[in-house]
Amino acid sequence: MTTARTTPPRPLDITALIPGLAPLARTATRLHPRPGTPTVHDSSIGGPLLWPTRHQWPYCDKWHEGPQEPMIPVAQLYVRDIPQLKAPGRTDLLQILWCPTEEHPPDHKPQTYLFWRTAADVTQVLTEPPRPSEPNTWYVPKPCVLAPEQVTEYPHLLELSAEQQQRIAEAVEADESYEAEEIYRNELSVAPGWKVGGWPSWGLTDPIARFCIHCGTRMTPLLTIASHEWHPDNRTWIPYEDQAQDDADANPPGVTVIDANRLQLYVCPEHPYHHTDLVQ
Ligand SMILES: [Zn+2]
Ligand SMILES: [Zn+2]
Repeated sequence: MTTARTTPPRPLDITALIPGLAPLARTATRLHPRPGTPTVHDSSIGGPLLWPTRHQWPYCDKWHEGPQEPMIPVAQLYVRDIPQLKAPGRTDLLQILWCPTEEHPPDHKPQTYLFWRTAADVTQVLTEPPRPSEPNTWYVPKPCVLAPEQVTEYPHLLELSAEQQQRIAEAVEADESYEAEEIYRNELSVAPGWKVGGWPSWGLTDPIARFCIHCGTRMTPLLTIASHEWHPDNRTWIPYEDQAQDDADANPPGVTVIDANRLQLYVCPEHPYHHTDLVQ
C-alpha cells in the first residue's frame, strides 16, 4: 500500500439537481496505482503474484507464431484492501493475467485470465514465473502499489434515458465553453483510471449491455484497465496528493490499451466465476 489518495468532492451534487439519479449511484474503488516495489503479499498492478508452485502458470491459448506464450501479471487484488470485491467461497485474492504479445483477433485485445485464490492455501510461492519472449511493452505494466479509495459514480450519459439527459441539460449550469453534458460526462458521472466496480465509461462505442454467456444475468464491471488516470478533460478527478503532477504522470503503470482506451472486465453478479472482457 502507498500513501492514501483522496479524490476531491464532485464540483456539484448531481442528485440534488436530479433526485432520479440517486438510485443509480454505484460504488467504485479507484486503485490509484503508483510506482513501487510490491511483494506477493501486496495488492498491486504489474507486481509479483502469490502463485503456488503446484499450480500450472497460465499460457495464452490463442494462436501465436512460434511456441505458446506465458501470460504476465496485470493485477493482484486482496479483498482486505478492496472489500468491494465479491470473492467466491473462502477465496480472498483476485489475480488477473494477460497475454502481452499480441492483440488477438477478432477484437484485438489482450487475452485475459482471472483466478480467485485463498491466500492462506499458498505454502510454496513460485518465485520465477515464465516470461514471454517478445512482449508488447504497452501491455507490460510497470510495478505499482495501490491506494484503493471508494468513490460514488453515476451512469455514463449514454446510459441515461433521453428524459434524464434532457434534465441534465436543463439543471447543470453550463456556459459557452463547457456544455452541461460535458460537465456531467467529465466531472460528475464516471471516475477515470484503474478501478474496481462502478459504472463503465463509453466512448468508442455506444453502451452495450453485457449478459453472462453462462446464465444470462446482466453483467457488471469488475475491473477497468485504463490508459491514464486523468487527462485535460477531467482534472477534477486528480487526487489532492497528485495535484502537483502533470499529465505525463497520469499513467504510472504505463499500460496503453488499444489506442489509449480501456479494457473492461465484467463479472456476473450472481456467479463470481463467470466473467468476460470488452474493449471500450
Ligand atoms: Zn496470446
Ligand atoms: Zn452467470
